[in-house]
Amino acid sequence: MLKKEIVKLKSTKDDKFRQELLTNDVNILNEITSTNLFKSLDNNGNGNILKKDIITALESRGILINDPRISDVVNKLKKFKDTEEISSTQFHSIIIKNITLVEKALKGDLIIPDFESFSQKVNIIFDEVKSNNDGQVADYIPQLARVSPENYAISICTIDGQQFHLGDYETPYSVQSTCKPISYALALEEFGEKKVHNHIGREPSGRGFNELTLNKDGLPHNPMINAGAIMSCSLIRPDLNISDRFDYVLSKWKQLSGNKNPGFNNSIYLSEKQTADRNFALGYFMKENNAFPENTDMHEILDFYFQTCSIQIDCSSHSIVAGTLANAGICPITRERVFSPTTTKNCLSLMYSCGMYDFSGEFAFTVGLPAKSGVSGALVIVVPGVCGITIWSPNLDKFGNSVRAVKICDKLVEQFNFHNYDNLIPNIKKIDPRLQKNEDKLEGIMVANFAASQGDLNEIKSLNAKGINLNNADYDLRTPLHLAASEGHLHVIDYLILNNVDPNPKDRWGGTPLDDAKRHE
Ligand code: GLU
Repeated sequence: MLKKEIVKLKSTKDDKFRQELLTNDVNILNEITSTNLFKSLDNNGNGNILKKDIITALESRGILINDPRISDVVNKLKKFKDTEEISSTQFHSIIIKNITLVEKALKGDLIIPDFESFSQKVNIIFDEVKSNNDGQVADYIPQLARVSPENYAISICTIDGQQFHLGDYETPYSVQSTCKPISYALALEEFGEKKVHNHIGREPSGRGFNELTLNKDGLPHNPMINAGAIMSCSLIRPDLNISDRFDYVLSKWKQLSGNKNPGFNNSIYLSEKQTADRNFALGYFMKENNAFPENTDMHEILDFYFQTCSIQIDCSSHSIVAGTLANAGICPITRERVFSPTTTKNCLSLMYSCGMYDFSGEFAFTVGLPAKSGVSGALVIVVPGVCGITIWSPNLDKFGNSVRAVKICDKLVEQFNFHNYDNLIPNIKKIDPRLQKNEDKLEGIMVANFAASQGDLNEIKSLNAKGINLNNADYDLRTPLHLAASEGHLHVIDYLILNNVDPNPKDRWGGTPLDDAKRHE
C-alpha cells in the first residue's frame, strides 16, 4: 500500500496532488505506528487495553501525566472510565496529536531507554543517603536557619524531558547561589563572552565564596562566587529599569523551568539585604577598582543580586532548569531555546571548575560533572547530553555544600558512567543508562561472533582487550569458537583456545565447535 503511494508520489508533478499524497503517507505511517504501539500494550492480545496501561507505560519511561507534551493524550483519556476498554482505533485517536513523543517513549528511543531501572537505582541511593544527618543548616539569616534539615528531595529531568522525583520535591526553597550560573548565562547572552570577561575572570579563586578579594586585574575571579555574581547582575539588561530587570530574570527562570512559575521570597530578600555587610564590602571594593561597567548604580545592583538569590523554586522545576543546561540551552519540556549552545558551554565550564565553593577541585576530580550549590541546600548537577539533576537537603558541610547532595553525587558516579572522563576507561564496570537494556552486552556478542566468522583475528583481539567475554554465546548459544570452526579459521581457533575459552560449548542444537569443524571439512 505504502509502496504504491510512493511510486505515485514520485511520478506526479501536480503540487496539490503531491501534498495530498504526502499527507496520506504520513497518515498511513502513523496508523502503522499506532497499531504497533497498541499491540505492545495489549498484554492479553484481546484487542483492548485500559487507560492505566497507557499511563503506566508512559510514566515508566519518565513521561509524566503533567507533561504538557502529552496533554492531548491525557485530556482524551479523561473521557474514559478506569474500567472502560480502549480499542486500537480509539488508541490511535487518543495518541495521534502527541504520537512522536509517545512513539519514542514506548519504543525505548529516549535518552535513558530503561528509565524504570535507572529510577529504581537512584531511589536506592536516595534511601541509603537519607540517614546521613551530618552538617548544619545555614544560619546567617533566620529564614534559612528555620528550614527543617529533614527536607530531602531529588529530581531528574533528561534532555528528552523524562522526569523522576522523590521526597519533598514540591516544597519551595530559595535558589541562593544556584542563581549564579543563570545570571552569568544571562550576561553572556546580552553582551557575549569578550565583554563579560572584561568584567569577570574565569579562574577558580582558591578562596572562600564571599572572600574580600579580586584577581590581579582587579576583577572578581569568576562568576560562581559572590563578587562575580554581583558583576553578572550588572550586565543583565542594563537598558531596563531595575524592576523590569528583575521581571526579565524571573521570566528567564520561567522559561528554563518549562513554564513553571518560580516565585520570590520577600523575607529572605529582606534578611539577605540586612546582613549583607560582606557583599556591600565586595561592591565597594569592585567599585574602587573600576571593575563595574560604566554607569552602574552599585547599590541598585547589590539589591538586584539579593533578589536573584531570593528567587524561589521547588526541586522538580529546578531539575528542568538543570535539564535545559544539559540540553545545550533548549528546555526539554517546551523545546524552547533559552540559552545559545555557546553560552551553555561557557556556563557549564565554569560550573565544572568553580561551582562547589572551596570543594570545586575535589568535586571535579571525584564526580567530574558541572554543578552549582547554594546555601539553601540545593545542588544542581548537569550530565551534559543526558540529564539535569537537582538535589535539595539543607544540612551543609564546612564548605557550604549540601552533605547529602554531595554523597548522592558520589554514589551516582560510582554506579553510572557519568564522570566526564569515564569514557577513557575501557571496560569500565559502570552502567551506561543511555543504552537499551542489554545493548552493550549483545553488541559485544554479535561483534565477536561476526569477527570470528570472518576470521578477523585483530578484531577478536581488540574485543578481548575491551573485556568482552569470548565465551559469550548468542541467542542460539553459538560462540565465537563455533563460528571460527564452521568457517575453518584456524588462527582464530588457536587464539581462542590459547585464551582459555571453553573448547566444548554446546549450541541450542547440542552442537560443539568440533562438530562444526567436521561438518565443514
Ligand atoms: N545570598 C548569599 C550571599 O550572597 C548566597 C550564598 C550562597 O548560596 O552561596 O551571601
